[in-house]
Amino acid sequence: MEKIEEICNTISESYLNKAGINYKERIYYLKKLEMVILDQKVNIQNALFQDLRKSSFETDTTEIFTVLTEIRHCLRNLHHWVRHTAVLTPIPMIGTSSYIIPEPKGMVLIIAPWNYPFNLCISPLLSAIAAGNRVLIKPSEFCPLTAEIIKKIVNIVFPKDVVAVLNGDYSVAEALVKLPFHHIFYTGSSRVGKLIMAAAAENLTSITLELGGKSPCIIDVSFSIQLAAERIAFAKFINAGQTCIAPDFVLLPKAKIKQFIDCFNTVVDKMLGESKLQSKEYTGIINSKHFNRLHTLWSAACESEGYDYTLDSDASSLKIKPTCIQIEKWSNPIMNEEIFGPILPVIGYEDLQASIAVLNQFHRPLNLYIFSNNDSMINHILKQTRSGGVTINECLLNYCNNNLPFGGDGNSGLGKTHGKFGFDVFSHFRAVTKQSKLPSGLLFFYPPYTPLKNKIKDLLVKYF
Ligand code: NAD
Repeated sequence: MEKIEEICNTISESYLNKAGINYKERIYYLKKLEMVILDQKVNIQNALFQDLRKSSFETDTTEIFTVLTEIRHCLRNLHHWVRHTAVLTPIPMIGTSSYIIPEPKGMVLIIAPWNYPFNLCISPLLSAIAAGNRVLIKPSEFCPLTAEIIKKIVNIVFPKDVVAVLNGDYSVAEALVKLPFHHIFYTGSSRVGKLIMAAAAENLTSITLELGGKSPCIIDVSFSIQLAAERIAFAKFINAGQTCIAPDFVLLPKAKIKQFIDCFNTVVDKMLGESKLQSKEYTGIINSKHFNRLHTLWSAACESEGYDYTLDSDASSLKIKPTCIQIEKWSNPIMNEEIFGPILPVIGYEDLQASIAVLNQFHRPLNLYIFSNNDSMINHILKQTRSGGVTINECLLNYCNNNLPFGGDGNSGLGKTHGKFGFDVFSHFRAVTKQSKLPSGLLFFYPPYTPLKNKIKDLLVKYF
């Protein structure tokens, strides 16, 4: 506990003495971070393989490439984002000028989960640095080797009074959120998100919550079932479905269920190849607790439908084959929680409108996937539903565009990140108004309130 306070004191003292980090330092650190990540690529791959059995291809694309593109996006655009922005002056305020200064929030805390353990530490870190903050990072305890490589990279790139990494179990995070940080950026489950929000309220610390949820796929009659199955299968294959925006379940025309499941299985078999579950290209489930949780969920789902199916899995490598399950009842227990693994419930509809009405009774999900070639149907679904983000006719892609905000809605999260949105989350927008040498307009509001002042005031109230 002493160590936590020691690290926080180092950062907070330097914040009080030196404020945030300036534009030149931010650019310098972002460039250095890019260079060191490239330099440490093999060590990052090895750590991710040992922690999650993640292939180097997936590590390169989903952990390294994603953060490098975001660093480069920041480097290209930061000079615009940091500018003081002049705003228009309303007529009654003539004689003044106003502008907005983006300032670092100060000392910020980043708490990350295990599913993309590198990306989900570094992506908020680079936004926090772009905005000029000092940062404390708490990586996930469930990926200890990745947590160590993150610490190593941070120690190479940043002085201790700019960024520090504190590793440890949940009790470390629990202690940290009680401290008066100027912002807490949390990625993880909704359950813990609520605890973080309650702890932050004690210090009136602002928060960003990047949470999860049940992201649905809706396939309309106009769309090729084969293409939808292929795209959904890939999104469920990647990281073994342990992705916050992984498709959680599929709604499709009842008559197409068999075709969908057949196509899904064919694509999965092709992706796994001859080595099947031993494939080095397929990620494992994080730990036996989650492996068992998924098996329990599968058994409950099968029991509820009266099936006697076994889940194809390998306990030694903690791998579970991406598998569909046809669901007749919305009340099936698998519909009660985010699956966060490679199981995919498939629900047939005859009346899409009725299914959308049921969908709207769920918490607002992080993402929604619409597969349709009919623009009016796409617009209809967009108008009738809510979610953090949407990808149409593919999966996951809205996450990848740094010009789009990423984040949930309601139970799936609070606040947005990526690119400029990430910069904004870690910035305080300070409003400045300057009175010119002209006499101040406020003179008019000084008493005594003469009949003339009253007339002018009435005109102001009516027209401005
Ligand atoms: P988790 O909430 O169990 O843990 C995440 C972090 O919270 C860890 O660093 C842990 O140490 C810390 N923590 C645990 N208990 C705490 C407490 N009481 N107080 C403070 N901190 C605490 O989440 P997880 O299982 O690691 O992650 C899975 C969830 O994260 C899923 O729901 C998934 O959808 C969501 N997720 C969301 C995003 C997103 O960007 N929206 C990304 C990845 C994962």
